[in-house]
Amino acid sequence: MFTELGLNKALVETLAGRGYEQPTAVQQAAIPLVLDGRDVMAGARTGTGKTAAFVLPLLQRLMTVKSSEHRNVNMPAVLILTPTRELAQQVFKSAQQYGAATDVRSCLVYGGASLNVQIAALQDGVDLLVATPGRLLDLIFKGAVDLSRVESLVFDEADRMLDMGFIGEINQLLKKLPQQRQTLLFSATFDDAIFKLSKTLLNDPEILQVDTRNSAAEGVEQKVYEVDADKKHPLLSYLIGSNNWQQVLVFTRTKQSADFLAKELTQDGLNTKAVHGDKSQGARERELEAFRAGEIRVLVATDVAARGLDIDSLNYVINYQLPYNAEDYIHRVGRTGRAGKEGLAVTLVSSEELYLLEPIETLLDEKLNQEWYPGFEPDLDKPATEKKRRPMSKKEARAEALGLRGKPANKRRGRRR
Ligand code: AMP
Repeated sequence: MFTELGLNKALVETLAGRGYEQPTAVQQAAIPLVLDGRDVMAGARTGTGKTAAFVLPLLQRLMTVKSSEHRNVNMPAVLILTPTRELAQQVFKSAQQYGAATDVRSCLVYGGASLNVQIAALQDGVDLLVATPGRLLDLIFKGAVDLSRVESLVFDEADRMLDMGFIGEINQLLKKLPQQRQTLLFSATFDDAIFKLSKTLLNDPEILQVDTRNSAAEGVEQKVYEVDADKKHPLLSYLIGSNNWQQVLVFTRTKQSADFLAKELTQDGLNTKAVHGDKSQGARERELEAFRAGEIRVLVATDVAARGLDIDSLNYVINYQLPYNAEDYIHRVGRTGRAGKEGLAVTLVSSEELYLLEPIETLLDEKLNQEWYPGFEPDLDKPATEKKRRPMSKKEARAEALGLRGKPANKRRGRRR
C-alpha cells in the first residue's frame, strides 16, 4: 500500500484515481528513503515504475518541507535531469499527473524548442524542473534559471546520459548546484563509469538493485529468428500481418534504415511512420501521439528517438537490426511488458549480426534461443561473398586459420555458448 510507504493522502488518492493499487518493487524500496532525504542509487529499467519512485516522494517533500520558500521565480528546489527530450517530456507529464492535487509548479526545458517560451515559464515560478543538460546550461548562462536553491537532484537514465556524452555538461551543472543536497541516480544498467560518476555525486547512498542485474522486462517473451538480411523485411511484414499485430515498435540502427523500412512497410499496406533524430520535434511528437492513439500501426525508431516512449499497451517490440551497444537491447525490450503486462520482443538476426548477440546474452546472463521461421529459413548455401561481411576480427581470423569458420549457423551455435 502506498500509505504504508509514508505518502500523504492527496498523493495516494491521485494514485488510486489512476488505478495504481500496489507500489512496484522500486517504489517500495525508494519512496521511504527519498522521503527521508537520503541519497539513492537505483538500478531500475524503464517500465519498472521508476519515475513515480522519485517523483512522488519529491512532490511530497515540496509540499511539506519549507514550502513557503519555494514560491520563487526561476529557482527550482527539485531538478530532474534526463538524457533526451522525450524522456524529459514523459517525466514532466508524470510530475503533472502525480502532482495534480498539489500546488507544486513543474516546468520542462529541453533543446530544439523555443527558448523564450521556456524562459517565460520559468519566470512564472518553478518548484520542480525537468531538464535536458544542454538546454539547462543555455538557460543558466542567460540568467533565466538559478540552481542555487536546489535541494534534490535526480539523474534519470544516468547510463544513457554518459553514453550520449553528457559528462562535460554534468560537470558544469554541478558547479551551479549547492554542495548540500539530496542526489538520486537511476540507471537501467550499472557499469564502472556509473559507479565512478556516483562516487562524485552521491553522499553515502543507499544502493537499490530491484531488478535482477540487467534483466530484460519480466513478462516479456524474447524470440530470436535467424534470417537472411534480404528476407528480414518480408518476414517482418508477414509476422505483423499474419498475427494481426497492432502497435508494433520496430528498431533499426540508423535513420536511413528507419526511413527505408517505413517506406517498404507502407508499400506492404501497413500504416507505418519512422521517428529519428533528423525529424523535427513537432513531427516526432505528432507521430508518437498517433502511434499511442493507434492511428499508426507500426513505428520504426532508432534507439535515441525511442527513449522515453511510454505506451501502456505496447505488446510488440521488434529488433529489425541488433544494436551495437548491448545495453540498448535492454532498453528496447523494456518498451514492452511494462508495469507487469505481457509482451513479446522479436529479434531478426542475420548471420552477419550473430556476433552482436553474444554481448547481449552476457549482459542478460541468459541464452537466447535462435530459431528459424518456417518459410524464411536462412540460405546456408549462399556464398559468403554474397552476404555483406564486416572485417574479420582477430578471433575470427584465428578460427578461419583453424578451419572453424564458415560452418552452417546451426553448427556454429554450439561453439558460441
Ligand atoms: P516507468 O518505469 O516510470 O516508465 O513506468 C512505467 C509505467 O508503469 C508507466 O506507464 C506508469 O504509469 C506505470 N506505473 C508506475 N507505477 C505503477 C503502479 N504502482 N501501478 C501500476 N502502474 C504503474
